[in-house]
Amino acid sequence: MYIRVSLLVILLAAIASDALADSPESSTTKVVLLGTGTPNPEPDRSGPAVAIVVNDAAYLVDFGPGVVRRAAEMSPAYGGDIAALDVDQLNVAFLTHLHSDHSAGLSDLILTPWVAGRDKPLELYGPEGIADMAEHILKAYDADIRYRLDGLEPANDQGWRVNAHTLEDGVVYEDDNVKVEAFRVRHGTWENAFGFRFTTDDRVIVISGDVAPDPTVEEYATGADVLIHEVYSDSGFARRDPFWQEYHRTNHTSASELGELASRAKPGLLVLYHVLYWGSSEETILEEVRENYSGEIAFGHDLDVY
Ligand SMILES: [Zn+2]
Ligand SMILES: [Zn+2]
Repeated sequence: MYIRVSLLVILLAAIASDALADSPESSTTKVVLLGTGTPNPEPDRSGPAVAIVVNDAAYLVDFGPGVVRRAAEMSPAYGGDIAALDVDQLNVAFLTHLHSDHSAGLSDLILTPWVAGRDKPLELYGPEGIADMAEHILKAYDADIRYRLDGLEPANDQGWRVNAHTLEDGVVYEDDNVKVEAFRVRHGTWENAFGFRFTTDDRVIVISGDVAPDPTVEEYATGADVLIHEVYSDSGFARRDPFWQEYHRTNHTSASELGELASRAKPGLLVLYHVLYWGSSEETILEEVRENYSGEIAFGHDLDVY
């Protein structure tokens, strides 16, 4: 009897550890969707922003509107349990491209963490133009920055600063937690759009940014643990007028095209974000992807953790 109980305990422990191996809790690397939206101002979806959390550090990819408050929502200061998303800890960010839906949170990301106590510059990685964007924001807020620095407020003189780094293809960042590779992607006639691959001790994560079907994304995503990819609905697309269809076909990726790409790249998990529905439901869009893809798939929502 004792042996039987022991075996049962061992069996249950094995099942539990197996389950844990697939859950975010057991992994030192977490993917936190801070914003899954598009240019459309859907109230439940902040602008595109993903946090890759490794040990005690967070690395942001894109900073659409709402990014800082979504991070705060996950932080211990506001009832969450991810200390790396304490707002004053946000100090490394990567931008896929300068389109406003992905970058309109930059002034917030520069200033709010500083006001909350960040005492080092924001390390900002983005396509050509990122340094100008940061510089112009700092100019626009000069009165605010001066008032906080020179007035009665005890503000530090580092946290408002930005170190802007212009992206090229290849490894763009490396530290003890993570290696980050940037790769150019096709996004219509937009000149500088990038995707990213994060490699940590335990996971490989690829983020597409905005992209038409692109073999480079497929190449980087092959064998990745997680592929986070934008998508639009095929059936919704059919209801668009031809002018818009031409735009979307050359700038973005349909659900059926994404299914084809994922079926070849075979990521451990495919996460849909930056979704254009045009009247289709989440279930319909999942079905449209599944027509060509039978692997694991998740429809991303703000604050989901993988
Ligand atoms: Zn976009
Ligand atoms: Zn875009």
